[in-house]
Amino acid sequence: MPLPPELARLHDLAYNLHWAWSDETVDLFRRLDPQRWEETNHNPIATLEGLAEGRLQTLADDPAYLADLARAAANLDAYLADGDTWFATTGVAADRPRVAYFSMEFGLHESLPIYSGGLGVLAGDHLKSASDLGVPLVAVGLFYQEGYFRQTLDGSGWQQDANEDNAPSWLPVTLVTTADGAPAAVEVALLERQVRIRAWRIQVGRITLYLLDTDLPENAEEDRQLTSRLYGGEINVRIRQEIVLGIGGCRLLELLDLAPDVYHMNEGHAAFLTFERARSTMEREGLGFAEARERIRPNLVFTTHTPVAAGHDYFSPDLMERHFGAYVEGLGISMHELLGLGRHNPDDYREYFCMTILALKSAAHANGVSRLHGEVSRQQWRGIWPDRAEADVPIGHITNGVHLPSFISSEMAELYERHLGIARGTAPAKPAVWGPILHVPDGELWAARNASRARLLTFIRDRMTEQDARHGRDHHGDGFDPNALTIGFARRFATYKRAALLLRDPDRLARILNNARRPVQIVFAGKAHPRDDGGKSLIQRIVQSAGNEPFRHRLLFLEGYDIGVARQLVQGVDVWLNTPQRPYEASGTSGMKAAANGALNCSTLDGWWVEAWDEAQERGEEIGWAIGGTETFDNAEHQAYIDVESLYALLERELVPAFYERGIDGVPYGWTARMKRSIALIAPQFNTGRMVREYTERYYLSGLK
Ligand SMILES: *Cc1c(COP(=O)(O)O)cnc(C)c1O
Repeated sequence: MPLPPELARLHDLAYNLHWAWSDETVDLFRRLDPQRWEETNHNPIATLEGLAEGRLQTLADDPAYLADLARAAANLDAYLADGDTWFATTGVAADRPRVAYFSMEFGLHESLPIYSGGLGVLAGDHLKSASDLGVPLVAVGLFYQEGYFRQTLDGSGWQQDANEDNAPSWLPVTLVTTADGAPAAVEVALLERQVRIRAWRIQVGRITLYLLDTDLPENAEEDRQLTSRLYGGEINVRIRQEIVLGIGGCRLLELLDLAPDVYHMNEGHAAFLTFERARSTMEREGLGFAEARERIRPNLVFTTHTPVAAGHDYFSPDLMERHFGAYVEGLGISMHELLGLGRHNPDDYREYFCMTILALKSAAHANGVSRLHGEVSRQQWRGIWPDRAEADVPIGHITNGVHLPSFISSEMAELYERHLGIARGTAPAKPAVWGPILHVPDGELWAARNASRARLLTFIRDRMTEQDARHGRDHHGDGFDPNALTIGFARRFATYKRAALLLRDPDRLARILNNARRPVQIVFAGKAHPRDDGGKSLIQRIVQSAGNEPFRHRLLFLEGYDIGVARQLVQGVDVWLNTPQRPYEASGTSGMKAAANGALNCSTLDGWWVEAWDEAQERGEEIGWAIGGTETFDNAEHQAYIDVESLYALLERELVPAFYERGIDGVPYGWTARMKRSIALIAPQFNTGRMVREYTERYYLSGLK
């Protein structure tokens, strides 16, 4: 896009995703054209491309705009040049990318739809925190020509999955070239064909993310489509996508002479990289396959993300043979030996090949994503180590986190800046920084809470107006009350998350919501996987209740859940509701985002929440609410009954009364005290700054010395 010279730095700002956690830069983009900024789902490049004639010149003549632009650009420059990072304190050289982080999805911002849910957002937050901390990391993923679908519903509340076009010219991506300026390209063999792969580069602060793309004219049509959709294909597409990611990704890094030391597999999808790492090590060092595997093992890190069986890739022996028949010859082992690396029992020739098992058998470092998930994973995969006791299964845990500057509201950021000295857009490395939150005047905290809730309700009203107009309904979003207790529930509609749990007894729920003196309102959002009809039914059930009495103005479903909607919700609600069936939520992260914004969590004791809860119990503090206990029942119906009874009782007896118990100045002192304790306990621990430091200290550094 040709920019007037005065505005040239807008280009630099738009092409570094650092803007996603820089309020001042977001503000510059919005001021280009507020309406277009919304219409493009906050895409700076698309906003710039579509500006009306003369608009750029007007801004180029506006001294105030130019001053703000200069400041934002200087701040980006300073951020990128800052050598005084946490990683520098380790004394390990950071002169080149030393850790390669592979993931099938990255959730960096709503304008870049190459993620589906929590796994992707975690990967995006990992990159942002690695950038903040100065960890020398490079990331590899796939470039999907069709973005993960934007959700709308039909008149009956049934999800429609329309994919969006990810046009490179409207995204902050640059084609990767080699030193001589030619497009970088590597090849992998897929069946009888060589498939060429090119790559796009995205800059995330100091971190470079490479996205692999097979949509090249020299490839067969079928191969061009390979990387068109995230989780879009059948098993035949899936295995090839994973070959492109794992093997193609390694080859790209090699072509670019990056030679990282440590390879981190975020989920099993990337585990084919272990083959390619072994192969290139054999070639370079003249080793046999087994020795090469031992050589690379200390530098492989694997993070598993779910106890749900369907979340792990299994490929049939036949499918594996078709894709690795030729490759295995280069490794000097038999196909049977290769398949054994992905099997519980290497000698069971019928057993499917599991990517998680391959990763677990290959990596020196493996972890689950919360303390409970670590335990569950050791139990789940203990069969791989038949002579070990469960406690000795080599899977540890590093609890997930969130990138705080990406999710904290402007109201709370202002408060944190003023009282805790946390500069906007930064994440404090020292937990002690959060301590003074306990002494913030309750009235101020409450004012911030009210302002955040009011902003959410404006967002909801606008969205519902658009949604209702599209469905030809009258507005039911208008009924939401800016002073009422507002509960949020938003996440992927995987069935174990039990989104409709709260609706099991509609009459009882209606009594809770419709109490005239103590009204309660609930906002739902979330996508079901395109092939998950169970999840889609749950959405439909909620939508159908939302439109009707007795829930008409008290319950609604926002379409189009994405990172942007998530940000609005976690910033605005008073309570974040989470009802997974224990122990299927490996960690969960949305509740951490809500907590950092002062919302209180009300959740079953699953994933990260058990850890926070236990810590609060030890301190003798109340920070939120636990639905049900830690006992689990095999009968899912019975479990749901126990949990929902507990949830209704909590709402009736504790949560709603606490919100409406006010001092004479209108401040709910019990509630604000709880908010402070929740922030003080959760924000310093459950963030990706702490998480990436842990990965670095426990896993990465041993391979970097
Ligand atoms: C944070 C986030 C998630 C993760 O939510 P959970 O409740 O942990 O499943 C999923 N999707 C989006 C868009 C998010 O921002």
